[in-house]
Amino acid sequence: MCDACRATGENYVFRNKDSNLYTNRLYQVYRDGVAKLVLCRIHDIELFHSGEFRFLEKNLDLANKIANNNRYFSYG
Ligand SMILES: [Zn+2]
Repeated sequence: MCDACRATGENYVFRNKDSNLYTNRLYQVYRDGVAKLVLCRIHDIELFHSGEFRFLEKNLDLANKIANNNRYFSYG
């Protein structure tokens, strides 16, 4: 399940023709760690085009989840 779609309650399989998921890392979210995200193709492309900060600005529900749930997203 795409983390960004789940944060907004969207069904990622319905939005995306394929259900492939792409693992991404956000390097500027946590001071001492990397946030690992699983994204659908739409959000993967959005992250690639927007960059971390603008992507999180557009997906505030997701940003909120990452901030409040860092054990789930934190990686290494
Ligand atoms: Zn998504």
